[in-house]
Amino acid sequence: MPRPRLDDPDTLPFWAACREHRLVVQQCANCGTYRFAPVPLCYRCRSWDTDWVESAGRGRVYTWTVTHRVIQPATASARPYNTAVIELDDCGGALITSNVLDIDNDRLRPDLAVEVIWDEVAEDLTLPRFRPVAESDRKKANNAH
Ligand SMILES: [Zn+2]
Repeated sequence: MPRPRLDDPDTLPFWAACREHRLVVQQCANCGTYRFAPVPLCYRCRSWDTDWVESAGRGRVYTWTVTHRVIQPATASARPYNTAVIELDDCGGALITSNVLDIDNDRLRPDLAVEVIWDEVAEDLTLPRFRPVAESDRKKANNAH
């Protein structure tokens, strides 16, 4: 797969956190708006002051698509695969685009509870992906907070 740029100052903290298995999201230090993907300024108040906050990595499927055609030669053997938008439970419901693994694509549904898992792509690149969470596990996790 084509690799993301790992030397961009706006996304560097995100990739560094991924290598530590921490999912981080930007939060505007001025107005508190959460945002993902990382960008240099707040699209609500135009402030350049940014904090990085850690998400617990749980969320729900907001929407998804399943790719059947070869769009990128590197994905030919992975078809059909899903690309999903996950609405995080914390971090203001920030939306993160990823994939849901460990599920048949036909079983994806809106609001499916998912949690982050870490895909060690290379020594310098770890990607956040997601997998379904059993509803019973989810209740236990919520009660722990
Ligand atoms: Zn702002």
